Amino acid sequence: MNTDNPSILDRIRFVLVETSHTGNLGAVARAMKTMGLSRLHLVRPKSPPDAEALARASGADDLLAAARCHDRLVDALAGCRLVIGSSARLRAVEWPLLEPPECARRLLADAGVGEVALVLGRERSGLTNEELALCHYLAHIPTNPAFSSLNLAAAAQVFAYEIRQAFRAARGETLPVEERDLATVEALDGFHAHLTATLVEIGYADPEQSGKLSRRLRRLFHRARPDWTEINILRGILNAAQGRKDPARFLRRPRKVDGEGERS
Ligand code: SAH
Repeated sequence: MNTDNPSILDRIRFVLVETSHTGNLGAVARAMKTMGLSRLHLVRPKSPPDAEALARASGADDLLAAARCHDRLVDALAGCRLVIGSSARLRAVEWPLLEPPECARRLLADAGVGEVALVLGRERSGLTNEELALCHYLAHIPTNPAFSSLNLAAAAQVFAYEIRQAFRAARGETLPVEERDLATVEALDGFHAHLTATLVEIGYADPEQSGKLSRRLRRLFHRARPDWTEINILRGILNAAQGRKDPARFLRRPRKVDGEGERS
């Protein structure tokens, strides 16, 4: 899947069929924009986007302004190589059924090559069988079977989120990893040797039985994941406890390749 070009998301359109509440038009636009989607198509909306739609769009009014209206669903789907319909109900007819993550992966994979669409139905009655007949797959958000219908914009948000997740996964994106300069295993080991020696020296630990205490203390400091500065502070404290004025030569953070100096 070629996801190098973010415009791959611009090849995914959300098609809303006969939406009754203009507020939902705005809320869907917002759901899409938060996830980087921008192409909204409307089939016979009960009324075009109005003040209520703008209020619910909450900054995604550019998507509403660019939304294209159509009389027929087939026109809204023109040029699409993949169409997935969404339904709150599990239909009696045997339709290839996808859960949102798989639906997202398929939309994204095909968007790498051409235009694709996700179709969302009417608030009251969803999509008709004739409309589903235009779809390659049916997507269903697993819900409480006794109360399976999400608000139209809530359903759009679930699908848009999953598309974003699939997009990020394909690009190898993850949440930023903590950038703290964590002490390495040898720095921690040096600290623990110093700690054990100090505890024996100040009469807290019995040299014969310090193994168990040592392991507990290692667990404690492993949970904290100290960085280089913190290890140096701790070793300074140990030095003070040992009555040493001159600091021992601690293991320092190695010099960086880019020439940045040692850190104290
Ligand atoms: N009473 C209608 C519910 C429509 S909700 C029905 O039973 O079909 C409006 C639209 O939101 C649906 O047509 C569908 O596109 C989407 N939607 C709501 N809940 C959904 C769910 N659980 N899974 C997939 N799509 C859902």
